[in-house]
Amino acid sequence: MSAQGDTIAAISTPSGPGAIGILRLSGPRAVEIAEACFRPLGAKGLRERPPRTLVYGSLLDQRGEAIDQVLCTYSLGPASYTGEDTAELHCHGAPMVLSLGLEALFAAGARQARAGEFTQRAFLNGRLDLAQAEAVGDLLEARSREGVRHAASQLAGALSRKIGGIYAALVDVMAHFHAVLDYPDEDIDPFRLEQLDEALSDQEGELNTLLASCARGKLLRDGVSCAIVGRPNAGKSSLLNAMVGWERAIVTEIPGTTRDTVEEQCELGGVPLRLIDTAGLRETGDPVERLGVERARKAMEEAELILVLIDASRPALEEDFALLREAAALAPAILVWTKGDLPAAPRPVRSFEEIGCSAVTVSAKTQDLDELCNEISCAFPQDLYWSYGQILTNARQEEAASRAREAIRRARGALQAGMTPDALLTDVEEALSALGELTGQSVREDITARIFAKFCVGK
Ligand code: GDP
Repeated sequence: MSAQGDTIAAISTPSGPGAIGILRLSGPRAVEIAEACFRPLGAKGLRERPPRTLVYGSLLDQRGEAIDQVLCTYSLGPASYTGEDTAELHCHGAPMVLSLGLEALFAAGARQARAGEFTQRAFLNGRLDLAQAEAVGDLLEARSREGVRHAASQLAGALSRKIGGIYAALVDVMAHFHAVLDYPDEDIDPFRLEQLDEALSDQEGELNTLLASCARGKLLRDGVSCAIVGRPNAGKSSLLNAMVGWERAIVTEIPGTTRDTVEEQCELGGVPLRLIDTAGLRETGDPVERLGVERARKAMEEAELILVLIDASRPALEEDFALLREAAALAPAILVWTKGDLPAAPRPVRSFEEIGCSAVTVSAKTQDLDELCNEISCAFPQDLYWSYGQILTNARQEEAASRAREAIRRARGALQAGMTPDALLTDVEEALSALGELTGQSVREDITARIFAKFCVGK
């Protein structure tokens, strides 16, 4: 598909007014189509200027009338993102300008790009392998600093190099087996057998490490689901707002205002969190509120971290003990004393800490979340173990890596059982093919199409 005859175009920036909006083109006629819709300032035409520079001029609509003052740049394949000729028009981020500009590009011969089609072309033209293309998606969706660092390293080829190393070592093992097959009368000496098993075992170990990174990949992708629970007025919505940094949930003084669960993402203590603010947990006669309480319990059951909030300025109740106990039994829980800026009510003689979870004090009012940050980063320590980018971030990668590992295990089993080299070769070949799927060397077109369809249009 690298010889796509058509030239694609799309608005590559988010919809809505903004400072800058970009129209993007890729394909054999990209520069010609850009020239039809762009009049550079000065005598020189676009193509008379060097590629990869910004040229100032007017964006023209279908009728050739100027509709914006823009910057245009073009690149010639194969030295471009997609590997084809490309052009970009950096306009003012005015939705009307962008749609008139896009219309003009279509009129000049481009067609609307499908979701992810620019990156798909980059993959098909060998500019990116599949793991790198997936990293582009991860980068767009990253919700933490660490997620960005991993995705950026993966985009730069960290995972691909790792897989390439395993691949090369297995090809080496194959070469040995092939040599044995070529001289069937000679037995492989035990020393050689041991060496081959060791080589396979090393690569099994590498895959074990990669597979162990899946949980980290999932955490970076989805965030830790974190339920915020507590009695009405404990300060749940206020804490969520402080954590997220803006007024997301409605804060009122009327108990029971948060009747549904509210979800928000944030990063705290370096950990990406999916916060779930819940209705205050209390017995209630109001059916709508009761529904909210049921959802709150469900959120708690599904959470990977539970923050149990207790108002430190008021006497704690037996209900608070019960909730903390319930939470601690379901997931790692942190007792969060709220409203730390107010004078504290006497704490009960009975210690909450005996329930076995750590306790921190916060104030949403003064935005003091330091203790909570520390506690969360201790509960989900940062990567010390995985080099940036050398982690598996989605189910497709995990499945392919585990198939490769299974095949290596089978090959080792066969080797140890004294099977013939040809039986072993099938297993090693299968491992190679699974690794090839990871980087996209040997992957079905419908699978790649599904991967790119998840991207946004214009990427
Ligand atoms: P929720 O029902 O648990 O969601 O509690 P809210 O977040 O709606 O807060 C209940 C009341 O406590 C509101 O009047 C808030 O302004 C107040 N509140 C919440 N957090 C703090 C805090 O850190 N300090 C002080 N002084 N008041 C707070």
